[in-house]
Amino acid sequence: MTMPNGFSAADAERLSEQERRLIERRARLLGPAYRLFYERPLHTVRGEGVWLYDNQGNRYLDAYNNVASIGHCHPRVVQAIANQAAVLNTHTRYLQEGILDYAEDLLATFPTGLDQVMFTCTGSEANDLALRIARQYTGGTGVIITRFAYHGVTGTISELSPSLGSGITLPAHARTVRAPDAYRLGAENVGKLFADDVRAAIADLRAHGIKPAALLLDGIFASDGVLAGPPGFLAEAVKVAQDEGLLYIADEVQSGFARTGDAMWGFQRHGVQPDLVTLGKPMGNGQPIAGVVVRPEILESFGREVRYFNTFGGNPVSCAAAQAVLDVIRDEQLQERSQRIGAFLADGIRQLAERHELIGDVRGAGLFLGVELVTDRASKAPAANQTRQVVNGMRERGVLISAAGPLENILKIRPLLAFEQEHAELFIDCLDKTLKDVTA
Ligand code: PMP
Repeated sequence: MTMPNGFSAADAERLSEQERRLIERRARLLGPAYRLFYERPLHTVRGEGVWLYDNQGNRYLDAYNNVASIGHCHPRVVQAIANQAAVLNTHTRYLQEGILDYAEDLLATFPTGLDQVMFTCTGSEANDLALRIARQYTGGTGVIITRFAYHGVTGTISELSPSLGSGITLPAHARTVRAPDAYRLGAENVGKLFADDVRAAIADLRAHGIKPAALLLDGIFASDGVLAGPPGFLAEAVKVAQDEGLLYIADEVQSGFARTGDAMWGFQRHGVQPDLVTLGKPMGNGQPIAGVVVRPEILESFGREVRYFNTFGGNPVSCAAAQAVLDVIRDEQLQERSQRIGAFLADGIRQLAERHELIGDVRGAGLFLGVELVTDRASKAPAANQTRQVVNGMRERGVLISAAGPLENILKIRPLLAFEQEHAELFIDCLDKTLKDVTA
């Protein structure tokens, strides 16, 4: 059988007949643009807490999913969805209290000034809407992003997501800046260098007659290689942009909802005040809900001149799920746990680095870690082939992670916030064994 979607003959040989049939059927029905994780794709049938189960009943420790962040099928979210679905599910053109209670509760987690929220269904839509608002407010079109950014899939936003692939052509109104890579640029330099790059990008836009509108940044630079960087390093670049009249859009789709441990929102690590913040992924623990949090004075003229309605955005069932997520983050102290378990995990991996030369850098914030693998610590030469082996080797041992960065040589470790110490210990043990098996 010819295998679709980049599966090699060697990969195909390791698959069961049922897996082969599913892959072929998927390609036939869904077309060629989708990608599966792992050389031996996972056929998941059930999730519970930090575990995913495959069709054979094997369980996998989920150290990757940032959607079911508070735990797969969390009973409080399941119950909230069921209760609300049994009573009412309409949209935002009727008066309804749930959306207002949730908006109030959500906005209370933001610094004063970020006082209004608009709801969408996806992070892509949230970024799209944020950019429209920023352009309307500033009268500009120019956008600055990082070189291997990912911000979503709408027409406008996919063009600002170079990590989607070589088919993406950067539009004339966009400028990319070097990702703030503290490992290569040095932790003490990265803030200034990043600010210099942003300043140069603004100047270049203006030199080409393009008025800049926004600096759009992922709070943890996930697709660029999980570049959490030292706390505060972003402040200088944000100041440069805001002083020049650009709006800073903090894309918190990856770094929000307690993921970074030290705060509810990733931008808070840097002591900066965004003009707009976009949210998504873990917001409804799997129920589609996302949004834009914004300063009211920025939204004012947009709201006067443009009507906003999003059929499913902010519907009562999604808001009920999102409310349950916020409640659980508070009640189960998941922010504190993200910080504590994240630090334990990072320490454990740093200890592994003492005996595994392949580990060049361990970085991150809270329960979002990047582990950069290099073939040579002095030259920092990327170990992409070895990274693929580790990701697939971990999967074979029952632990799920992925890889990030332009060369895919960075282990992307993003465990559920529901992780306990025992899960972190299991993870470290599995990574140790897997690294021992890696061949050049
Ligand atoms: N921004 C970032 C930083 C993301 O990681 C993603 C999703 N991976 C998005 C935006 C888009 O979110 P969605 O897939 O919900 O459209």
